[in-house]
Amino acid sequence: MPALSRRHFVALASAGTALAAGGGLIPAAPARAETPFRQPPLPFAEDALSPVISAATVQVHYGKHHAGYFTQVNQLVAGTPYAAMTLEEIVRASATQSDPRLFNNAAQAVNHSFYWDGLRPGGGAPSGALAAAIERDFSNLAAFKEAYVVHASGLFGSGWSWLVEDNGKLAFLDAGNAGTPLTSGKRPLLVIDVWEHAYYLDYQNRRADHVRAVLDRLVNWDVVRDRLTA
Ligand code: MN
Repeated sequence: MPALSRRHFVALASAGTALAAGGGLIPAAPARAETPFRQPPLPFAEDALSPVISAATVQVHYGKHHAGYFTQVNQLVAGTPYAAMTLEEIVRASATQSDPRLFNNAAQAVNHSFYWDGLRPGGGAPSGALAAAIERDFSNLAAFKEAYVVHASGLFGSGWSWLVEDNGKLAFLDAGNAGTPLTSGKRPLLVIDVWEHAYYLDYQNRRADHVRAVLDRLVNWDVVRDRLTA
């Protein structure tokens, strides 16, 4: 089942439960925090992205790094006003409240979920409004991918190489550490994790090769298109 479908299904199932518990036409509560926050399941098998991203990388990256951020967030928000917020709200609020430890862990939790949801075995090609936007802003798909590789390669140190929509145009956002477009109002469309833990077992120091392979073989362009048109 594609990631978005799975997520929608979970959301619908939760809403249904709330309605049933409320006994009828009571409006469903807005999506609120579900503390303790739980790491979403991977939308594919651990070995499905191999050989670009090996099962060994996914086991550590999803099972240790990503999981660890959820553990940290749950410990940090327990008993605080943050516990009533969604993860995305925590990211925005902690960014403005000078709470870097919570921001880093919450943003990493959200960023990784967004990252996994944007991948799929086999990749494919952009279609529809996304393909049109790429042609409009980059002339063609090859030029777009090469620009993405240049941005991801140029990001110094650990971080995230984002594709965003900014004022109606596609743009790149090179964000260090736990950086996210959620704090700048830009719409996130796709992200490639360029922390070394994302690629070092499989590509060692060859970040550009890894990014190119992800773009060519693992991006779920249907998800990216749906994020653009949502
Ligand atoms: Mn990571």
